[in-house]
Amino acid sequence: MVSELMNVCCVQCQCYNGLVLSTESTVALYGTVKPVPEGKQAPGGHELLCDFWELIGLAPAGGTDNLLNEESDVDVQLNNRHMMIRGVNVSKILKGGSTLFGLNYFGENAFLTQSSQLYLETCIPALGDTFCIAQSYRAEQSRTRRHLSEYTHIEAECPFMSYEDLLKRLEDLVCDVVDRVLKSPAAQLLYDLNPDFKPPKRPFKRMNYTEAIAWLKEHNFGEVCDIPEAPERLMTDSINETILLCRFPAEIKSFYMQRRAEDRRLTESVDVLMPNVGEIVGGSMRIWDAEELLEAYKRRVIVCVFQRKFGTCPHGGYGLGLERFLTWLLNRHHIRDVCLYPRFIQRCRP
Ligand code: ATP
Ligand code: MN
Repeated sequence: MVSELMNVCCVQCQCYNGLVLSTESTVALYGTVKPVPEGKQAPGGHELLCDFWELIGLAPAGGTDNLLNEESDVDVQLNNRHMMIRGVNVSKILKGGSTLFGLNYFGENAFLTQSSQLYLETCIPALGDTFCIAQSYRAEQSRTRRHLSEYTHIEAECPFMSYEDLLKRLEDLVCDVVDRVLKSPAAQLLYDLNPDFKPPKRPFKRMNYTEAIAWLKEHNFGEVCDIPEAPERLMTDSINETILLCRFPAEIKSFYMQRRAEDRRLTESVDVLMPNVGEIVGGSMRIWDAEELLEAYKRRVIVCVFQRKFGTCPHGGYGLGLERFLTWLLNRHHIRDVCLYPRFIQRCRP
């Protein structure tokens, strides 16, 4: 990534990691960014004087040369699309767990996506922080105030972030969007629909999953291990502020979520809960070690492990449901009220 933006002058190559280093590996470079000296050239006019570097994820020897090159067949290139997009030109073009709907795709069985996360993860090495706004499709038979079968999913994946960074970024995301809306001409519409609207207070209240379980028990919701939609919403309503619900047990969360070093039964995960709606964002750190990931899902999605072999790095990401965000912001009772043509169970038209 860095070498595309500027020249990198590096010392300390005569060491073991320097000798085994292969293309597509991930490294961290520490140093000073300076304008290039008079008469010299570099993309962007800057170079990085590197004092120290560190190997983060080693790729197999030979990089991707054995997989594909510019002369490879189009099908080979497309099968290895997650590697192709790391190329300088292809990346320039880009700069401009549950139930699926099946479909017949020119005779091939295919599925409508429920998330763009895997695709975004393959973009990290080429693009750095990435986001995507696209439709996601969920085929669960959910009959609640907040479930659609087709919704607008705002997703992001961010390399080299920590769990703490992820929580901070979600706070920034929600507060920054609210700030912008309140400064825009749409602010009047917001207050027309939701006269009592108050922007969320920072920092958001943090609550561990185990604390939520205890809260529910204390308030007579009984013993639960996986909190259903209604109690989650009632708890959020009664606390009546934004909650970062943290560290869910691994067995009720997706296989790709990173576990906590301090307690491997828990994940580095977070849901953002809002009064009246409950969960509006789900996020987590992702397992970034190829072996660990393989173990976690027993060889289910190959592209995902493959991606981590060639230069992995610690990263996290999240998905925000736009319609749930609007349901909260505009204080609507049912999510269908914020959709142009809502699609949910038993509602396919118009
Ligand atoms: P829930 O527990 O409410 O079914 P989820 O945990 O399955 O949601 P995620 O897979 O974490 O949802 O998806 C990320 C975000 O996408 C959610 O936080 C939510 O805002 C939104 N979302 C998920 N499913 C739906 C749905 N059926 N309708 C509308 N928005 C949804
Ligand atoms: Mn979720």
